[in-house]
Amino acid sequence: MIKILKFGGTSLANSKRILSVSKIIEKKYKTNQIAVVLSAPAKITNYLEKLINFSIKQKNYKKIILKIQNKFIKISTKISKKNKKISLEKLLNIIEKEMFFLRKKTKKIYFLKKCSKITYAKIISKGEILSTYIINHILLSKNFNTYLINPVKKIIAQGNILESYVNLKSSIEKIQKINIPSKSIILMPGFIAGNKEKKLVLLGRNGSDYSAAILSACLKSKSCEIWTDVNGILTCDPKIISNAKVLNEITYKNILELSCLGAKVLHPKSIYPLKKFNIPCYIKNTFNKNFLGTKIYKTIKKKNKYNFSITYIDNIYMFNIKILNENIKYKIQKKILKYIKKKYISIIYLSNLINSKLIYLYIEKKYIKYIKKIFKKNIEKSIYKSKILIKKKKKLSIISIVQPKIKKIKNLIKKIKNSLNHSNIKILNIQKKSKNCISFILKSKNKIVAIKLIHKIMLYKNQINEIFLLGIGGIGKTLLKQINKEKNNLKQKKINIKICLISNSNKLLFKENGIKINLWKKKFKKVIKKYKKIKLIKKINKKIKKNFYINPIIIDCTSSKKVSNQYIQYINNNFHVITANKKFNTGSIKNYKKIRNISSKKNKKFMYETNVGAGLPIIQTIKNIVHTGDKLILFKGILSGSLSYIFGKLDNGMLFSKAVKKAKKKGFTEPDPREDLSGLDVARKLLIIAREFGFNLELKDIKIEKILPKSLKNISLENFLIKIKKFDKYFLKKILLCKQNKKRIRFIGTINKYGKCKIKMSKINKKNPLYKIKNGENAFTFYTKYYQPIPLLIRGYGAGKKVTASGVFSDLLKSIL
Ligand code: ASP
Repeated sequence: MIKILKFGGTSLANSKRILSVSKIIEKKYKTNQIAVVLSAPAKITNYLEKLINFSIKQKNYKKIILKIQNKFIKISTKISKKNKKISLEKLLNIIEKEMFFLRKKTKKIYFLKKCSKITYAKIISKGEILSTYIINHILLSKNFNTYLINPVKKIIAQGNILESYVNLKSSIEKIQKINIPSKSIILMPGFIAGNKEKKLVLLGRNGSDYSAAILSACLKSKSCEIWTDVNGILTCDPKIISNAKVLNEITYKNILELSCLGAKVLHPKSIYPLKKFNIPCYIKNTFNKNFLGTKIYKTIKKKNKYNFSITYIDNIYMFNIKILNENIKYKIQKKILKYIKKKYISIIYLSNLINSKLIYLYIEKKYIKYIKKIFKKNIEKSIYKSKILIKKKKKLSIISIVQPKIKKIKNLIKKIKNSLNHSNIKILNIQKKSKNCISFILKSKNKIVAIKLIHKIMLYKNQINEIFLLGIGGIGKTLLKQINKEKNNLKQKKINIKICLISNSNKLLFKENGIKINLWKKKFKKVIKKYKKIKLIKKINKKIKKNFYINPIIIDCTSSKKVSNQYIQYINNNFHVITANKKFNTGSIKNYKKIRNISSKKNKKFMYETNVGAGLPIIQTIKNIVHTGDKLILFKGILSGSLSYIFGKLDNGMLFSKAVKKAKKKGFTEPDPREDLSGLDVARKLLIIAREFGFNLELKDIKIEKILPKSLKNISLENFLIKIKKFDKYFLKKILLCKQNKKRIRFIGTINKYGKCKIKMSKINKKNPLYKIKNGENAFTFYTKYYQPIPLLIRGYGAGKKVTASGVFSDLLKSIL
């Protein structure tokens, strides 16, 4: 059985590609008899169209002929250079003959200022004719036999000269009468057919797919291969979705829906003849010859990895027709349909809402003028004493998803609606056109973002969460390690975490579809340091504003105020914010309240459990206390891991300076231990706790009894570490005195029931729950209306990479579930 091969314009764009096409033909011919349908080299049809328009408009058309001529001369010269058996002279003669025809015809058009449809068709099909000549010459030079089918005589068409429909029955009869020599390659120019008067007519732009399908049907071919410049039918236009996937298979029905809804990969008219004779069609890539491509057939396997495709049509107008007398709504609708059909207008949707006076009509821009005429002439006059109001909306797009049984996917529309909603995109109308197709109508300006979101939802069946990780120090790194370790568990729970952005203070790594988590270090290393902080933040903000994320989450593992200043903006851009950075929550009370308002309005999470006590459930506990109507009587806590460690060591007789150095070495302190010793870090935590209890305080309201004098504040770190030795004696003495009274010294933060906050070194006895706290442990005691006289006590490590990262991780899971 014969096979049909069709090569599109890009496959024939230059000499190299044409030679490569010839190689494909030769190879295929080894195993099968073949018939080849050819397009014009890329852009030639457009030039020919321009040539006619220039001539009509009295513009300089001659330079276009020259351009076309040069293109073919260049192709021919290069081909004959590669293959000495090809006669350049013969090729040039053919080109000259066709150019002579173009010059003659365009001169006439220029003179008459108009062009008949028959001449138009003859001119713009010249590209196909020349492609066929060239391929024929190459094959003949290699001693293949060829047989040329003249489509004007054998493919019989009717209707509009420039957009004819093929009469399949007559064409089959004609073609089957030909006695094609069995050992020859059949060649036929695409795009062309003949009408009853034996005149050349066209099958519409991109019509050579249709030619190939017709020839397939006429020759009852085994298959029809459409060779183009993409790997097959993709899940979406790769210009929009860089990681679009190839579908292995698709049904005739689905491809038809796709092409009617805007997909350009196959001309919609081509599908009927293939479907009628059950001829499998393959979309193949000339630039990736060995790739299997997409098979189009009546049935497909269930197990295909990708089985959806997203497409769109732009330039849609919506007519919103309000009929004041509801009783005649159906009559009017019928009428609209009748006239639309008469004019061959393909409407995209006519939606008729039950119990409403409205009819929505969605139409491509090119049909507007007909619609207006229809309304004026035929509808408005026959309004049966009622009135209709027509409202128009411009610049809409229809995005459609085609997938077998798409209607059965649970919650799909809800998911899409939600995620578009998060990105502030309004869906104007949803259409379930068939059981395989859902379409969304929205403003054109939202098209790209909407397509990206919908593609993500379709591609990843699990809920996707896009992480932007700012700060990749100890905590950030550990967090990534922990997420990576939990990968399989998360998968089982149907949680899909994509790390889209990682940044430190001078560089960032961004990948829209997620950075491979096990390779992040390698990839991040390769990124060049090129930003100063502010620029970096601006760059991150740009990525955030792109807004095509499903459930985006900022995780701030920096300690930067500049970063925390962005949180409100992040939430406004529909991100959840999770932070280990205390700067925001200890900033102004005004912003503290503002972010909580915005996040609740936007339904976005703002989480900061690790701001106090790292992974310990402090914030969560306070929220429970507050929400259940309990009341704070007194809070006392050791809020600093480093100071817990240092004072614990002093109990055992260690010198103060040595305890500080040891704490620093163990990573308990901030890089500069003065931040801890000054009590500032404790004050920040205490402020956050107090604010959680509803006290409107600022950082300055927290009273700190300083451990060290001011003189140590402005000296270098090295100098400081030497100078603190001076305090060893003082502490030794203090501790000794305490011991005598069976007491210990602890650095304690207190909040009383009026919200008064204090931090100071306190002497406490055995009965105090904080007495035993040392070695970096934190402890939080809440005396409340319900928890007394024994307080609610939470203790455990309140600092360190692992516990802090796990606290952030737990916040992350809460913002996902
Ligand atoms: N060359 C024609 C066009 O560009 C037909 C085709 O390539 O399918 O429309």
